[in-house]
Amino acid sequence: MILNNLNETELRELMSTIGEKPFRGSQIFEYINRHYDYNIDDYELLPKKLRTKINGQFHISSIEILEYLSSELDSTKKLLYKLEDGNIIEGVLLEYKHGFSLCVSTQVGCRMGCVFCASTKGGLVRSLEPYEITSQVYLTEKEFDINISNIILMGSGEPFDNYENTMKALSLLHAEKGKNMSYRNMTISTCGIVDGINRLKEENKPINLAISIHSFDDIERSKILPINRKYNISEVLESARDYADSTGRRVTFEYTVIDGVNNRNSDIELIKNSIRGINSNVNLIALNPIKEYDSKRVTDKSLYRFKSDLERQNVNVTIRRELGSDISASCGQLRREFLATKEGCTDEV
Ligand code: SF4
Repeated sequence: MILNNLNETELRELMSTIGEKPFRGSQIFEYINRHYDYNIDDYELLPKKLRTKINGQFHISSIEILEYLSSELDSTKKLLYKLEDGNIIEGVLLEYKHGFSLCVSTQVGCRMGCVFCASTKGGLVRSLEPYEITSQVYLTEKEFDINISNIILMGSGEPFDNYENTMKALSLLHAEKGKNMSYRNMTISTCGIVDGINRLKEENKPINLAISIHSFDDIERSKILPINRKYNISEVLESARDYADSTGRRVTFEYTVIDGVNNRNSDIELIKNSIRGINSNVNLIALNPIKEYDSKRVTDKSLYRFKSDLERQNVNVTIRRELGSDISASCGQLRREFLATKEGCTDEV
């Protein structure tokens, strides 16, 4: 049994089942999720006999920061984390005026096949356990002695393809006796898994939702995001509308601008009509080329012109600030490059 996969209630129950007082479970929960202390021998509030007993029966698993790259232009850091089974995942730490934000992974690799994403090129290796998601946050805070105020699940993996573990991890991060992070500071980014969006809506939590849309034309979108063949744009928009209406949260449509493909005049009209009446924001991203996808980055001029054109149509639109552009390996690229240069990696590259 991995103790850092459990919430406080589960830890209290676990203590009861081994004949201990339930409050010991609460103490263990705090050591792990508030103090980020994964060494049971350190738990001085617990009698030594109990620590030995727990060590003999249970386990606290960990991950480690393998290496990180620091931007010389700003304080962005790209991190590689090593999991206990040797698999590698990637994260990005960003500093904004309002605090630190961490881009978190939910799977090793990904099976969604979005064409310009490096994370999917080796397919899905496996989904992460809750502790492997929370540990990315805890470990990064400890490493840099910072408080991470926001997380965005936009690292490798599709969060809704690992629904239960993702939600469990978010609830651990939210726990009052743990990090106590507000759900409002958490963003789930999906490529458009409608069942997942609908399920999240039923959770009734004010979690932010970002949808990688990239095109509002079904034919074009299916070329970029194979998931569109399963859930088409009208289904995605309907679920987004329901989500925004029921949670009161503004949905973000992530829109990677691919020059000549989705920034034509016809796209402006299409965007405006598609999102009409949805409490939403379109976040434009300049395509970060990867070697597996042959397309050039849109020029700043085209990008800003596209933004102005959308604003004239009363579309809420932003441009994602490019941070750490000197270490700008796009999603999953750093991991793939690392694996390609190491012997004995477990991933196909
Ligand atoms: S963009 Fe996200 S969902 Fe799409 S392949 Fe990459 S990791 Fe998976």
